[in-house]
Amino acid sequence: MTTSLCDDRFISISENLKKIRDDISEAAIKSGRKPEDVKLMAVTKTVDVKYINYAITQCGIDLIGENKVQEFLSKKDDLKLEGIEKHLIGHLQTNKVKKIVPFVDMIQSVDSFKLAKAISDEASKLGKTINVLLEINIGDEESKTGFDKAAFTESLYEISELPSIKVKGLMTIPPVCDTPSEAEKYFSVMSDFYNEIKEGNYPNFDFNILSMGMSGDYKEAIIHGSNLVRIGSSIFGARIYK
Ligand SMILES: *Cc1c(COP(=O)(O)O)cnc(C)c1O
Repeated sequence: MTTSLCDDRFISISENLKKIRDDISEAAIKSGRKPEDVKLMAVTKTVDVKYINYAITQCGIDLIGENKVQEFLSKKDDLKLEGIEKHLIGHLQTNKVKKIVPFVDMIQSVDSFKLAKAISDEASKLGKTINVLLEINIGDEESKTGFDKAAFTESLYEISELPSIKVKGLMTIPPVCDTPSEAEKYFSVMSDFYNEIKEGNYPNFDFNILSMGMSGDYKEAIIHGSNLVRIGSSIFGARIYK
């Protein structure tokens, strides 16, 4: 029997997911939690809709993340999204807020007061509340988006008074590290920071999501308290940018 290349890709997606779920369970237990306490997001940027639909309908994926507004909007009508949670995880320009707000359940990449306000204003117009995460540039890297910790502290009160967003937690992408264990110090700092803010009493904050960990470092992120891992290439294979 011959299998086509594309069949092989379907098989590898389901095998990859099995391994990732085992790893997640193990790391969750190691960190004193239950496997179901850590949520798995399939990151679908550059991935063809047929593979995304396979992961959704055949492999139990119920949370997807896309980076780009335009890419998500062009794919969404072909995706089997009923009952599926959709998050925007890439940098968002304020002029695109209007386009994406009606279609996603959460925006994980809020990195300025200006953007938070634009989202809140748009949500107000639609008569709803939008869930967001605040993205922290934990390595203080020039090249990265995300609040640096000082700017974050300054904006905290302003953000907490925006009427139509609900801040559910924090997201981060640590600096590129040579080894996953090097990333651990960033995850640990992030985790402390998350807990500190969670303790605070901010009007529209309802902290229960710490989104950190990607293909190369999700086990370490979970050990340090992540409860949402965003995984792309380890599920779908290496990305091909057109
Ligand atoms: C692409 C991306 C991911 C997934 O990266 P992988 O290394 O392929 O798992 C996670 N989070 C964000 C914000 C991304 O842009």
